[in-house]
Parts: sequence; C-alpha cells; structure tokens
Amino acid sequence: MTADPIVIARDLVRCRSVTPEEGGALAYLQELLAKAGFAVHRTTFAEPGSVPVENLYARIGTHKPNLVFAGHTDVVPPGDESAWRHPPFAGEVAGDMLYGRGAVDMKGGIACFVAAALDYVAANRGKPKGSISLLITGDEEGVAVNGTVKLLQWAAARGETFDHCILGEPSNIEAMGDTIKAGRRGSLNGTLIVAGRQGHVAYPDRADNPIRGLVTLIAALQAPLDEGSEQFDPSHLEFTSVDVGNATVNLIPAEARARFNIRYNDRHSLAGLKTLIEQRAKAAAAGRVHFSFDWQPSNADVFVTKPGPFTELAVAAIAEVAGRKPKLSTTGGTSDARFIKDYCPVLEFGLVGQTMHAVDEHAPVKDLVTLTAIYRRIIERYFE
Ligand SMILES: [Zn+2]
Repeated sequence: MTADPIVIARDLVRCRSVTPEEGGALAYLQELLAKAGFAVHRTTFAEPGSVPVENLYARIGTHKPNLVFAGHTDVVPPGDESAWRHPPFAGEVAGDMLYGRGAVDMKGGIACFVAAALDYVAANRGKPKGSISLLITGDEEGVAVNGTVKLLQWAAARGETFDHCILGEPSNIEAMGDTIKAGRRGSLNGTLIVAGRQGHVAYPDRADNPIRGLVTLIAALQAPLDEGSEQFDPSHLEFTSVDVGNATVNLIPAEARARFNIRYNDRHSLAGLKTLIEQRAKAAAAGRVHFSFDWQPSNADVFVTKPGPFTELAVAAIAEVAGRKPKLSTTGGTSDARFIKDYCPVLEFGLVGQTMHAVDEHAPVKDLVTLTAIYRRIIERYFE
C-alpha cells in the first residue's frame, strides 16, 4: 500500500478533472481508500439547470469522534496548454517541484491527507480509535451546486455526524505553516437602482436625471461599515459597475444602476447588513432620490471558528512540524467551509497558495512532505 503523497498527488494531477469532469480522480481515490479498509460511497448529484457532478464519501471506523477531511478533485481549466513549461496534466516532478493543474489547489492537499490517514490506519492495524472520513467533491471550482452542499445533506440523511473538519484548501500565504483559515467573511452582491424621468438634455428642468441621485447615494454608501472585529478586518463595500446604458448624447436617461459587492465580518448578519445599507441610502436620498435595491441571493454568510481545543491542537501540530506558529486568518474569498460550518467546526489548512489557478501551478515536494507530516500529527493528537 503506497502512502507516498508525491505519488498520490502526481497520479491525481494526471486525471483531467477540469470542473465538473470526474476525470478518473474519484475512481483513483476510491480504489486507494477501499484497499485500506475505508467504506467508500460514490454519489452523483444533479438538479435542473446544472450538470450532474460526482462526489465521494469515505469513512473508516464506526466510533466517535469522526474527524473529517474535506476537499475537491475538480480543477480550473489550464488555459493555453502551450504556455505551460510542464504540461498541466503530466504531473511532472522537476527541480523538486510537482507541476500541474491542481498541484496546489487542491489535489496536493488531498494527497497529503490520504497519505497521512493511510499511514495512521496502517500503524493502528486498520482500526483508528475514532473515525476518519473524507468528503470529496467534484464541484468546488464551478457553481458549487451539486457538490459539498448536497454531499453534506446526503451524509446527514444517512446518519453520519462530524465532529471536526479540516478543509485542505491552500491556506498558507508565504510558507508552510504560516496561516490557518478559521472563518471567512460573508459576501453579498447588490444593485442600486435610481429612477428618474427621461427628457431632452437641453431642458433638464423637464426631466429628472437619475445620475445625480446615483452619485449622491454611491458617495454615501462608501462610508466605513465598521472598524473590524477580533478576528476580522473591517467590512468593505466596493462598487463594481455603474450602468446607464445610454447611447444617445442628447437624452437624460430614465434610470441609472450601480452594482456592488460587500465583504463583511461577524459584526453583521446578512439581514442586518441589508437594512443598514438601505437606511444609509434613505438618509442620503432625503426624500429627493427615488431608489431601490436588488439583492442577489447569497449562500456565503460570514462565519468564524472560535478558538478552542481543536484549533489549539492544529496550531500545536503545525508548530511542531513546520517550526512556525500559524496565524488564524479570515481573509480571502469564500470556500466550501461556508457549507461545512453548519455541521461542525471547520479549519482550513493546506499548501501555500502562491501558484493556484496560475500557469505552471506547482507545489514544492518538501511542502507536500511537510503537509503530510502535519496532517499525520493532527490525526495522532486528535485520537489521543
Ligand atoms: Zn480549491
């Protein structure tokens, strides 16, 4: 039984699992895990308007606690393959680097956890003290509709419970062990719509130019939202587009729109944030600007994993192996942790994210070895 993370990572990179294609990656993991004694389930989820996606759930052990590792085998497309020094699906090791799409995000992370889990299981004669599970989706880089959300629901319906989760996304900024992600900001998209009255540009008194009102409201909405919180930076609203759609030079348009995104911290709830923005717009409008908001549904609410024994255990294992104490961070984009947090506490820890989604994505072999040792230590301590 191989438990070499480099071999597993290389083999996974060689599977062309460009989202939402399975590409052989889940079949590969299924075989590897089943041989080690894991009960492996493959599930395909679908719903109208989206492509079906394959997922995998594997578990060894029947007792609590159940430590679950979450990840995705799908990868973003390679782009122009001729721009790569090493072909994106060759899994070449050159100059102590493993090259290929997904080496960092996040087949490398999966390989390290699988290698660590197989080693732990072998050292305990196939019987871990609790349970080790893997939730692996093929739909993280896409729309994330037929992936982790449904896999978690499926597992819950089978009576599976999770005690703690490690999501193996590339969390480190510069070097192995510098960062654990212990929460994420929420993300909310909205459109501000100001209604005016169309008219000839030479007779503005007969029209009501919505652009004036829009400018007033945009200025008002850029006021700070808060000063940050214990584990988060200040929330931030950023306008992403201003649209009037007027191709005519002598026309005052009837409507003006501005789109924006808010990355918000744990000082706000989704509903409370919408109310705050609407109140600020109302105050700035002072009854003279006719406006409305169109809010996009959001499945990315803010969450934070509070420090506790699990976090301390992970921090200690990382410090012991990597020789540096990781920072607990909540920066960056959203991830599947936003779904997992409804089932159990989740920490994100994986490789260094520098080259993810880039041409010549690569992971240093020594980082793969270090990450495997860290996961191995976390598993060991978890069941002590
Ligand atoms: Zn990822």
